[in-house]
Amino acid sequence: MVRTEILVIGGGVIGLSIARRFALAGHQVILLESGATPGMINSSRNSGVIHAGLHYSESPLKEQMCIRGKELLYEYCDQKSVPYERLGKLIVAQSGQEEDLEAIFQHAMDNNVPAKMLSGFEARRRYAELDCVSALESSSTGIVDVSSLLQSLALGFESAGGLLQCFAAVSQINLEREVASVLMADGTEVVADLVINSAGLSALDLVPCEARSEFDNFFVKGNYFSYRKSVPFSHLIYPLPSQGGLGVHLTLDMAGQPKFGPDEQPVEDIDFAIDADRAACFAAAIEEYWPGCDVRYLSPDYAGVRPKLKHHGIVVKDFVFLQSRGNSGAEVLSLLGMESPGLTSSLAIAEYVFSLA
Ligand SMILES: Cc1cc2nc3c(=O)[nH]c(=O)nc-3n(C[C@H](O)[C@H](O)[C@H](O)COP(=O)(O)OP(=O)(O)OC[C@H]3O[C@@H](n4cnc5c(N)ncnc54)[C@H](O)[C@@H]3O)c2cc1C
Repeated sequence: MVRTEILVIGGGVIGLSIARRFALAGHQVILLESGATPGMINSSRNSGVIHAGLHYSESPLKEQMCIRGKELLYEYCDQKSVPYERLGKLIVAQSGQEEDLEAIFQHAMDNNVPAKMLSGFEARRRYAELDCVSALESSSTGIVDVSSLLQSLALGFESAGGLLQCFAAVSQINLEREVASVLMADGTEVVADLVINSAGLSALDLVPCEARSEFDNFFVKGNYFSYRKSVPFSHLIYPLPSQGGLGVHLTLDMAGQPKFGPDEQPVEDIDFAIDADRAACFAAAIEEYWPGCDVRYLSPDYAGVRPKLKHHGIVVKDFVFLQSRGNSGAEVLSLLGMESPGLTSSLAIAEYVFSLA
């Protein structure tokens, strides 16, 4: 049996940020990650976008943590030399969508998130190939080198005295005795004052209290297609958001490689395979705002899976921090529904979790 003060389950960008935050404050922290290296699930399967905080009017925690997380992340990248670029983005409206775009703009103004409205003419003066009737420019949107960020967070955690254990799958969290404990797949038991369950897609399965039965997971895959040719845009280009995501948008990675995605594909099981036949749907979505896209250059790339959540059968749109307490004060904090903008929000989530402890 091993004992520690703080035990974090899951070494994605959020688990790493939380573990680092506690270790920097002088706590004894163990981080258990089931994979061979941290961050290989959704933390490496996203758009790599530092979101401005424009889209979360119905999700107060997401909004608060995205806006705060964006500032913390830019600051962190500057301090730790993690590569990023403030490329900015355009959200483009088609005919009939102008009011929805205006509502995003007004909400941004209310929250002091930098945003500027452009007419279709102004947008096309920037990019002649863009098809839209109006656009919103977000100057604080950027991209980050996710792999460098993950490495930097892991290094920061270990340098602060934290213990990162990979190939360490947790099979169960117990909150029955005086302390919280976890059982690992190899039979080892780790006892802690506070267990933070940040296991991403598996987090709900590990929740130890009765409240677990109030929630259900469902999964929505987001596929990406890369574009094997240069594009005439240096901003990220987004359509108006859809019901379950931000729409098939154009992002660029730090090497300038364009990619489109993620789409929304409900899936029963978690798998990261991409169906090449989805290229036709991608082409249709992209042509709405970029008719000049040459679909022959679209190529299946990678996919992530959103850990969506229902509470009593109703879809939960916000991040959920579920606290379970034992008789003697031992505690488990489970992070559920940590989908986008979880990458942007990671340092703010760590700050928030630290304040709850
Ligand atoms: C398609 C897509 C696009 C996105 N785009 C963006 C974006 O552009 N910008 C943005 O801000 N956010 C984006 N996000 C959201 C962001 O990627 C996630 O919110 C973030 O990566 C979640 O981090 P995490 O640490 O909670 O989860 P994960 O990265 O999934 O990490 C969880 C970790 O827990 C480990 N684990 C699981 N079970 C166990 C166990 N039993 N024992 C031990 N370890 C375990 C896993 O191996 C994994 O490493 C996107 C998400 C998706 C799906």
